Amino acid sequence: MKTSSKRVDHAALSQPFVADEKHITFHDKRLWGLRSARDGEAHGIPEWEQLRGLASAIKEHTLTHLAGYLEEFERNARANGVVVHWARDAAEHNQIVHQILSKRQVKTLVKSKSMLTEECEMRPYLEERGIAVIETDLGEQIQQLDDQMPSHIVVPAVHKLATDVAELFAETMGTDPKESNIPVLCEAQRQRTRPLILKAEAGMTGCNFAVAETGGVTVCTNEGNADLSANVPPLHIASIGIEKLIPKLEHLGVFIRMLSRSALGSPITQYTSHFRAPRQGGELHYILVDNGRSARLAMDDFWYSLKCIRCGACMNTCPVYRRSGGLSYGGVYAGPIGAIINPTFDLKKYSALPFASTMNGSCTNVCPVKINIHEQIYKWRQIVAEHNELPFVKKEAMKLAGKVLANPKLYRAAVKTAGTAVAKLPRAVLYNPLNVWGRQREVPDAPAETFHDWYLKRKKK
Ligand code: SF4
Repeated sequence: MKTSSKRVDHAALSQPFVADEKHITFHDKRLWGLRSARDGEAHGIPEWEQLRGLASAIKEHTLTHLAGYLEEFERNARANGVVVHWARDAAEHNQIVHQILSKRQVKTLVKSKSMLTEECEMRPYLEERGIAVIETDLGEQIQQLDDQMPSHIVVPAVHKLATDVAELFAETMGTDPKESNIPVLCEAQRQRTRPLILKAEAGMTGCNFAVAETGGVTVCTNEGNADLSANVPPLHIASIGIEKLIPKLEHLGVFIRMLSRSALGSPITQYTSHFRAPRQGGELHYILVDNGRSARLAMDDFWYSLKCIRCGACMNTCPVYRRSGGLSYGGVYAGPIGAIINPTFDLKKYSALPFASTMNGSCTNVCPVKINIHEQIYKWRQIVAEHNELPFVKKEAMKLAGKVLANPKLYRAAVKTAGTAVAKLPRAVLYNPLNVWGRQREVPDAPAETFHDWYLKRKKK
């Protein structure tokens, strides 16, 4: 775990988004809509909780027997005619992709959405070496055109309004900036992308599930772009995080039933595609990528995060994520899952993220593979404090709060004084630079009577 990079200031990065009423309201509503649709689907399946238990158990079993399943997967894939590569980290992954492409003089790669390739920063790496990379997923292409990271793992451009996309397309594709009708925008993207897919010499996909028993991979999408990227060009490369393994084909049913329901509140993704062998005359390459996963697997408190199937449900339900936007997390993974994964890459850089949570536990409740997200967030907070990575003001405020909260008399005196202070102190004293909370909110008036006083009065009566 690295502890050297510049700290991501989540609160500061979220400020422009928080200040923009139109965007933040849309974002909040849109993601809450996904969360509500997820509830509708989950409640429609009586055995939902059993499925969650089963999905969690399959993942835990696989992760605790990972070496054996990886070898089985590799053996079966090779027997199917797939070329299998192993990448220790992001740099190795990118080098392998580059070698495969440059050996065949590939100049254009079309690809579908893959958080792993984002994690490896593959696109800039290849572009610097003269290979054009075209994202074929609509949201991902919007983010590529805007030179931004995805802000959500399932809906990468969810922080943008249709009018933003209209302006972006006008700048980059020459469409009408006033035309923000969504089907029209989608058609413009389609018209731009299809010829590029037809001409591309290589295609790339990620992988939702890799089945050890068959050596096949499953890719779930809603636009069919992964199928085009994989099937049109003669060369298909699939980048696979080693945690994507599941033992048997029959286990797929458990995850496929939960993935889209948890992500978008729809019963299934439009396309659930299975790739097992190269097409006749074509090539299929798998790159199995570690990039910190083995190290995470060895972390007693955090290895459960490897069960993640990247559904985004924890993001949709998180009030902090919905009201701060994914780009404010400063990493590939945003929201609650980002708060527990990113610090495993670099503790100092992502030390603010575990604090971007109300600890309401809703993320844990919706997670289809039962990751104890809020407990891991709490654990990361302790580690951040132990490593002295808390900002000075927060550290001192926490020390003071700890003393006050541990002493009932002191606590009651503080509550009373705070009420008077809020009413009487000049504004400049209350809203000083140390009061981070007060930067975007007014401190509410204290009630005339505290709960404690009210309770004592009632008790006496
Ligand atoms: S942590 Fe759970 S809820 Fe969040 S993206 Fe992963 S699987 Fe989905």
